[in-house]
Amino acid sequence: MVSNDFAGRVVLVTGAGSGIGREAAKAFATRGGLVYAADLSEHGLAETIDLITEIGGKARALIANVAVEQEVANAIARIEREAGRLDVAFNNAGITGKAQRIEDYPTEDFDKVIAVNLRSVFLGMKHELPLIKKSGGGAIVNTASVAALTGPGGMSAYAASKHGVHGLTRVAAMENAAHNVRVNALAPGWTETPMVKVASDQNPAFVKLVSTAIPAKRGGHPAEVAAAAVWLASDAASYVMGQMLVVDGGMTIGGFEL
Ligand code: NAD
Repeated sequence: MVSNDFAGRVVLVTGAGSGIGREAAKAFATRGGLVYAADLSEHGLAETIDLITEIGGKARALIANVAVEQEVANAIARIEREAGRLDVAFNNAGITGKAQRIEDYPTEDFDKVIAVNLRSVFLGMKHELPLIKKSGGGAIVNTASVAALTGPGGMSAYAASKHGVHGLTRVAAMENAAHNVRVNALAPGWTETPMVKVASDQNPAFVKLVSTAIPAKRGGHPAEVAAAAVWLASDAASYVMGQMLVVDGGMTIGGFEL
């Protein structure tokens, strides 16, 4: 039986037009939450809203660029105006950026990845926290990556942004632990979403990872990864603060199989 533990709660999911964000939006809605699904992609969001409506859930589309402060502020203002509260935020939108060595990495591309993956999480929390606190407390989950722990060649901007998300998450958790707001990060490994398809097309070394570097010998399904974000945002994780939950089929265990 699916629990209804998000009933009466308002949940913001960014990057909800695809992949992990879409699955998380569906899961929060299935468990009774009113989901504000945010994304740049109008088309992706329309599909997500349809999927949620089909399963009898409640969701509203929010078209916003998470790297632009005014758009983030407007999104939160709309949630406050319409729903009057915010209980959970899953700051998940992200891009991989180019696969190039540091000496060849275009600086404007570096800046873009940092803006979409890291600045967005800062802006998100900056504007979400006051409304979550006004609502009596809640939870924030930020999507990092196994690249917050490792140094994948060619992905300097991505790894830097995700290491940054880990740090920001810890600071936000420290600042808010006594104010009834839990903040944690999710670190997905290889998850079969459109993002992985783009990265695989650019970087053949990335494709080899599935058989050589993932002990589970398969990629993750976005719903398996989203489930961890939903757990972190749920009351079942009430004493979990400032942690990064790695969901990677064992990719970062280290060591080797006998
Ligand atoms: P995805 O490409 O399927 O979905 C990402 C969504 O974010 C898209 O709908 C896109 O339109 C949206 N988006 C991109 N830039 C945006 C912006 N500026 N403003 C608003 N929305 C924007 O990717 P995914 O695999 O579901 O990735 C979700 C998160 O998980 C990302 O932060 C990514 O870095 C992280 N992640 C993914 C993997 C993986 O293997 N797929 C691994 C580790 C971490």
